[in-house]
This record gives sequence, structure tokens and C-alpha cells, in this order.
Amino acid sequence: MSSHLEFDEIHVSLSESVRGWAKTYWAPGAALRDENAQFDEALYHRLDTDLGVMNITLPEELDGSGLDVAATVLVIEALSEFDPGMAMSYLSQELLFSHQLYWTWQTMKREIPAAHAQILKNKWISGMAMTEPNAGTDVLGMTTRAERCEGGFKLNGVKQWITNGPNGRVFLVYARTGEGRRDISLFVVMGDTPGLVRTECEQKMGMRSSPTGILTFQDCFVPESALVGNLHEGLRPMIRNLAAERLGLAAQSCGIAKTCFETMKSYAGQRMAFGRPIAEFGQIQRLVAESYALYRAMHAMLYDGVWELIEENGKASETADAVKLFCSTGAETIGRNAIQVLGANGYSKAYPVERLYRDAVLLSIGGGTNEALQKNITRQLINS
Ligand SMILES: Cc1cc2nc3c(=O)[nH]c(=O)nc-3n(C[C@H](O)[C@H](O)[C@H](O)COP(=O)(O)OP(=O)(O)OC[C@H]3O[C@@H](n4cnc5c(N)ncnc54)[C@H](O)[C@@H]3O)c2cc1C
Repeated sequence: MSSHLEFDEIHVSLSESVRGWAKTYWAPGAALRDENAQFDEALYHRLDTDLGVMNITLPEELDGSGLDVAATVLVIEALSEFDPGMAMSYLSQELLFSHQLYWTWQTMKREIPAAHAQILKNKWISGMAMTEPNAGTDVLGMTTRAERCEGGFKLNGVKQWITNGPNGRVFLVYARTGEGRRDISLFVVMGDTPGLVRTECEQKMGMRSSPTGILTFQDCFVPESALVGNLHEGLRPMIRNLAAERLGLAAQSCGIAKTCFETMKSYAGQRMAFGRPIAEFGQIQRLVAESYALYRAMHAMLYDGVWELIEENGKASETADAVKLFCSTGAETIGRNAIQVLGANGYSKAYPVERLYRDAVLLSIGGGTNEALQKNITRQLINS
């Protein structure tokens, strides 16, 4: 058994081809999409038609590539170097919907129902709805309910801050199905189901090219077949998938950090002050060198965490928490360092670093806040 993740040729060529493609097609419009809070659906679908990176962890019979989570993480990292918002929509579809739906059935050792298999094959824009207006970190405080009725369930409640909420075709939705705090079940809900109303959230500071929405359920009927796995057993897939999500968000952090670092490095070598490139000043050297060291540590820790997730078959939650905690704060630090090295140019939209810095802030909130991660990590370490 190796002690770290070793990329094979498929991983390496996947990462290189996605990076090259994103540089050509995603980078040019990224600033405008940020300014207009615009998701480019046609461009997004080219991830499938040009690159074939949808359903990446699913088997061939579900029109997938049969690769591991490391492949998804590599794609997310490469896309995030150029447009982290659009990359977050991809993360939501790939990890929070497709991977979660498929692997929930897998871990229950049950065959995936034909209707769910067909939904996965469609590769629709999709998302996962867990958070509510009054239940974010305190996710078990959710009040959205699914009551049994003839032929299925009726959903009532509100989900908020849902990535791809306004534009997705299908969602995984967590709802309370019993009186116990842990009686939560998972459902597949089509976006056009009567009784489901979808609206846009408030304008965001960053990740603006990724649509975020509110899902309001009012006596929204879903058939029995919408239930994923067993009744009241939604908590396990939720916790298991959070580890994959957190590694995906850490990959976003690494992508952002890389572009910020590369931008500050080339700027520091070219910008002249007092007759010398600013890279010759010790204080600038500190920002550049510490950003480089931090980026290298983030990258190594990310793929160490991915290796552990694969080895532990989806567990490794305190590792994923630690990876996200370290990488998200690292991305903010490197983004801020880049702005400082670029001076007024860094503070303006002339360079991508101010946009990436705003995008980076989301990474210490979404998928579990850094405070929640600090609490989880300490609790797990103390109890182990
Ligand atoms: C752009 C974006 C996209 C998102 N996408 C999705 C999605 O696709 N699906 C989804 O379900 N959710 C999504 N979310 C929601 C996200 O997961 C939540 O915002 C996050 O879990 C935090 O919840 P909250 O915002 O309600 O903050 P709160 O839970 O209200 O926390 C507020 C503050 O209190 C702190 N706090 C709370 N409890 C504790 C505690 N016990 N100890 C110490 N500090 C504490 C928090 O760390 C935070 O600083 C998204 C959010 C954003 C902004």
C-alpha cells in the first residue's frame, strides 16, 4: 500500500486537457460572467461534449467514465484556476448530485432504480438541497418535512443557498420524515414538480457565475420512487458525501491559489519601482515566497486527503475537514497577498486576483463553515 496518491497517466492527461481547454474557453469570459452574475449554460455543457467530464465517477452503463474521486477533484481544481463560479456549478452536479445519488445506492448494496439511472444518464444540471433559512451549520435542525401520503410523500418547507437552484433540472433534497432529530431521508425531486417554486438568492459577493437559489416546497408531491435508499436513513449519505464535497471545495481553493500565485510572481518580476523590479524588495519576496510555500502545502494536503478518502472508501471525514480548513484559509491568504503585490492593479478589475479573492471567501463558508470544521475536527480527534 502506498502512503500517498499516485496519479496515473489518465489523471495527468485529464488534468492537462481540462486546464488547456479552460484556459482557452472559460478564462476569456470569466470577468464578464462575474460582473453580470451570469451562468453560461452553453459553455457549461461543453464540459460534456468537448471534455467528457460529466458522470466521471459513474460506471460506463450510466454513461460515466468509471474514474475515482481524484479525477473529479483534478477537474474541479483545473477549472477553478479560471472561473471558480462555473466550477462550483460543476462540483454541485458531479459531487453533490451524481456521485452522491449513485454511491448512496452502492453503499446500501442495492441496485440503482431504473428511474434514477435514467436521470443520471441525462447529465442534467443538478444540485443538492440541505441548507434552510434557519438551519445551516445546525443542519439537523432542518424543518422541511416529507409526510407520507397515498402513492408517495408531500414535501413542505424551504431550502436556501442551493447551488444550481434556479437553473437545475433535478435535485437531491433532504427532508425530515420522523419525530427524531436524526429521522432525515433523501429524495430525488425534479425541478418542475408542481408545488416546488424556485427563486434566485440575494446577489453574492463572489462565485457570481454560479446560480444560487431558494427552493420552496408547498404540498409538493413526489412518488414513492423518489426516496433514495431507506426511510429515515438520509444522514449516512449526507455525512459521507460531505467529505467528498469538502475535498472538492479544497480543490477550488488550490485552483484559485495557483492563479493568484502565478499572477503575483510574474507581476513582481516585471513591475519596476526605485529602478528595480519589486521582486528584489524583501517584503515582496516574503509575500511571494510564503504564498509559494503555502500553495505547495495546500496542494500536497489536498491529494493526501483524496488518497485517504479513496483508501477509506468514502470515510476520512476529519481529514477532509482539515484539508478544507487549511486550503480555504490558504486561498484567502494567497489571494490577499496577490492583491498586495499588485498594488492598485490588484485592487482593480484589470487583473483576476480581486475576483478570485472574492470567490475564495465562499470556501470558508460553503460545505461547512471553518468554525464548524474546527469543532468537528477537535471532537473527532478527542474521541478517537
Ligand atoms: C454560494 C453558496 C452556495 C451554497 N450551496 C449550497 C448547496 O448547494 N446546498 C446546500 O445545502 N447548501 C449550500 N450552501 C449553504 C452553506 O452550506 C451554508 O451557508 C453553511 O453551511 C453555513 O450555514 P449558514 O450560512 O446558515 O450559517 P450559520 O450556520 O447561521 O452560521 C453563522 C455563523 O455562526 C457560526 N456557527 C454556527 N454554529 C456554530 C457552532 N456550533 N460553533 C461555532 N460557530 C458556529 C458559523 O461558523 C458562522 O460563522 C451554499 C452557500 C453559499 C453562500
